[in-house]
Amino acid sequence: MKIIKTKGKITKIIDLSPTAKEIWFELENEMEFQAGAFVNLFVEIDGEKIRRSYSISSDPAKRKEISLTIREKKGGFISNIFWLENVKEMEFEIMGPLGKNTADKIKKEKVFLAGFGVGVSVIKAVLLEILKFDHVREIYILTGSYNEEEILYKDFFDEVKEKNTGKKIFDRFILSNPKNENYPFTGHIQENIDDLDFSNSSIYICGQKIACDTLKEKIKDNAAENIDFIIESFG
Ligand SMILES: Cc1cc2nc3c(=O)[nH]c(=O)nc-3n(C[C@H](O)[C@H](O)[C@H](O)COP(=O)(O)OP(=O)(O)OC[C@H]3O[C@@H](n4cnc5c(N)ncnc54)[C@H](O)[C@@H]3O)c2cc1C
Repeated sequence: MKIIKTKGKITKIIDLSPTAKEIWFELENEMEFQAGAFVNLFVEIDGEKIRRSYSISSDPAKRKEISLTIREKKGGFISNIFWLENVKEMEFEIMGPLGKNTADKIKKEKVFLAGFGVGVSVIKAVLLEILKFDHVREIYILTGSYNEEEILYKDFFDEVKEKNTGKKIFDRFILSNPKNENYPFTGHIQENIDDLDFSNSSIYICGQKIACDTLKEKIKDNAAENIDFIIESFG
């Protein structure tokens, strides 16, 4: 895919949870990308150009308009900008697509998509893409979030599950701090997978590096065999 640098104008901002927003940018030039790719976003603040990376959360079929799903980092420099009232008037430079951990690396019939926190937005984009892959037959979606309000894209996953996609779709939303004290899947993703057979699968994991690495080790400890891991970590 050709890496381009273009301007992005915010067209829409959607509140997803108390700490996450989906930001839609109209691009000056089309960007061809694969699900799982990220962009570098440049913002000029007080004469200084600051750069941060964000994964693309929208469908690659749309090349002129992309969404980024951004979690507010208290004390952070760039993420907080999207909570400002005048953000739509700001200029953004966008460079991409970047990254190699894209949906085309998913080669097996059985696929696990695991997303931690805002990494769930990448899982959503990858899911949109692999639904079109004939070789993919079974998809297991595992998300790890703080509480019920912070599960990103649950409605989207529910909708895909209910639709007749011709594929077996399973999902499990794990919460580290559920409000409902009887919530069945608590803790982290790796503490809620002992009943799942990961053998002979492609496993796409996205989130903070430590979370991705811990889950990968746990799956390997479960003696699962013949696995392709694709790990997109946020550092
Ligand atoms: C490949 C990739 C993809 C990514 N995709 C996404 C994505 O899809 N969505 C997303 O939300 N994020 C994503 N990230 C993370 C993103 O790039 C930023 O790191 C994140 O938004 C924080 O940036 P920031 O400018 O708000 O915070 P920063 O200014 O970078 O600060 C980060 C943290 O450090 C603390 N900090 C900053 N300065 C100091 C200081 N002087 N002393 C002590 N603490 C300090 C802040 O409180 C904050 O908690 C991705 C990262 C990578 C590498």
